[in-house]
Amino acid sequence: MMRRPVLAANWKMNHGPTEARAFVAAFLASYSPRGDRTVVIFPPALSLSAARDALGPRSDVQLGVQNIHSEAKGAFTGENSAPMARDAGAQMALVGHSERRHVFGESDDATAKKCAIALLHSLTPMLCVGEKIEEREKGHTEQVVLRQLRTGLSLVEKKSLSGILIAYEPVWAIGTGKTATPADASSVHDLIRRELGKVAGSVEIAGGIPILYGGSVNRENARSLLEARGVDGVLVGGASLDASSWGAIAST
Ligand code: PEP
Repeated sequence: MMRRPVLAANWKMNHGPTEARAFVAAFLASYSPRGDRTVVIFPPALSLSAARDALGPRSDVQLGVQNIHSEAKGAFTGENSAPMARDAGAQMALVGHSERRHVFGESDDATAKKCAIALLHSLTPMLCVGEKIEEREKGHTEQVVLRQLRTGLSLVEKKSLSGILIAYEPVWAIGTGKTATPADASSVHDLIRRELGKVAGSVEIAGGIPILYGGSVNRENARSLLEARGVDGVLVGGASLDASSWGAIAST
C-alpha cells in the first residue's frame, strides 16, 4: 500500500509567536507546495495562532500541538485542551512524546486518554513510542514499544484507527546525535505495523497508518531513513528549528 510521506517538525519549547511568524515566512519562501507529502509543524501552543496566521492560505502545511490535556476543559491551570488547540489552528496532536513520558511522568494510560480526546475533537493524534537505552540494552525494545502502543490505542475505536499516526522515537536517539540505522528502524516499524494489524483486526487498515521515525534526523540522514522499509516519514526536533534546515528536510 502506498502511504504519503509525512515530514513533521517538533519545535519543543522554542520559537515564541514572533519567531514562529518569521520562521513560517522564511520556510514558505523556500518551500514549494507538493501534493505528494504531508508537512506538519508542531510549534509551542502559545505560537500556534501566530503560525496559522503566517501560513495564511497555504493549506499544504499543517500545524499540530505538542501536548494536550486528557479533559476538554476545567480546573487544570497551565494546561491546553484539544478543542483549544483546534481553535488555535492545530490539526494534529503529539501524544506521548518521550519528553512528556520521561521528563513529565506521563503514563501509558494518560496517552490513551489523550488519543481518545484528540479524536473526539477532530485532532489527529500522532502517538509516539520508543524505548530507553537501558531497555534496548536489556533486549526489551519489543516489549516496551508494544506496551506503549497497545495501551496508547486502547481507548481508540477500531473505526477511528485509520485516522491516527504513529511515531517510533527511540529515546536514546532523541537530541543525542545518535540515529537508529535504517535497518533498526525498519525492524521496529515492521513490529509496530504487525501489532496495528492485530489491534485494528485488519491488515488493510494497519497498512494505511503512517509510521514515522524520529531521533536525530537531519538534512544529511533524512533520505536514507525515509527510504528504509516501513518508514513513512520523519519527526524532527533539533534540525527543524532552522527554517533552511527544515526546508531541506521537508523537500527530501
Ligand atoms: C523529537 O523531539 O521528537 C526529536 C526527534 O528530536 P531530535 O530530532 O532533536 O532528536
